[in-house]
Amino acid sequence: MATSADTRPDRARPRRSAAATALSRGIWGLADPLLDPRGCLFIFHRAAPHADWDGLPNREFYLDLDFLDRMLTHLVATGWAIVTLDEATERMAHPGRMRRFVNFSVDDCYRDTFEHVVPLFRRHGVPVTLFVTTGIPDGTMPLWAAGLEEVLRIRDSVLLPEGPLAVATPEAKREAFVRLARAWDGSQAGARYAEFCRLNGIDEAVMHARHAISWEMLEALRDDPLVEIGGHTVSHARIASLDAEAAYGELAGCRERLRARLGCDARHFAFPYGRRGDCGPRDVALAREAGFASAATTRKGVVRAGQDAWTLPRNTLNGAHRNLLLTEAHLSGATGVAGRILGHV
Ligand SMILES: [Zn+2]
Repeated sequence: MATSADTRPDRARPRRSAAATALSRGIWGLADPLLDPRGCLFIFHRAAPHADWDGLPNREFYLDLDFLDRMLTHLVATGWAIVTLDEATERMAHPGRMRRFVNFSVDDCYRDTFEHVVPLFRRHGVPVTLFVTTGIPDGTMPLWAAGLEEVLRIRDSVLLPEGPLAVATPEAKREAFVRLARAWDGSQAGARYAEFCRLNGIDEAVMHARHAISWEMLEALRDDPLVEIGGHTVSHARIASLDAEAAYGELAGCRERLRARLGCDARHFAFPYGRRGDCGPRDVALAREAGFASAATTRKGVVRAGQDAWTLPRNTLNGAHRNLLLTEAHLSGATGVAGRILGHV
């Protein structure tokens, strides 16, 4: 429709136009962080019902399911499309399709992925990506942190090689977890956990089954259109620390195992730990050679059109993440900028 501005003499236009442009720039400048096309990828590990969360000795590792429920509602209500990584990488490659989207991925995969996480995404009718460490359902990767946590949670006192340790209060359980996990972390963690199980009369295999996702569970999820299965190595190794042959074995071995057990072609990969020092250009080349179509990190930030599919940034959600304002900070890209300034890459 023609407006009065269209009929004005030419000489009046530049001034009017400059003012309008400045005003428009100002408005769009303010709105830009919220409106420009972008994607935001989130990663978390375990999730627990709100009622259980407080009593978990390693609760920072869990996302509060009630919060996740509110977050999914909020994202859909504010116009964010929740998509698979297949769809996300397609959108990055085709700028006209970008719009605003979010992807959620669960790394490692535990029993709660099957029991709590996928059912919640199903209730919302939105997809979730599972990055499976195949040593978990195969029982070859000791879930020492999960086992240590559970023993601390259910006992008032535990036995350590140096003697008994009282863990009767939630605070004592949390402190003991932090101290022991820090002491065990590294190549000897599995052996130290095995000794801990022996001292405390814990059947390690039974404990593993209580926390691991199983191949039967994964088979049940495989054909769900809301579940996308990707790879996260065989043994959760820090890929950059391995020689090329071992690194390739972790990447291709995981992909082959997923195909053998589930008959599915895992297209996407997530590097364990995922910071800059954990995965470099050699490791990206190996992931490509192993047949993956993308690789995700845990560097914070948002994705835009043209994003390199081999260094996908993801924003980690953990137990401290219980506020939608922090979600908005991730969506705006502010946490990614802050992370780079602080050197958290
Ligand atoms: Zn992981």
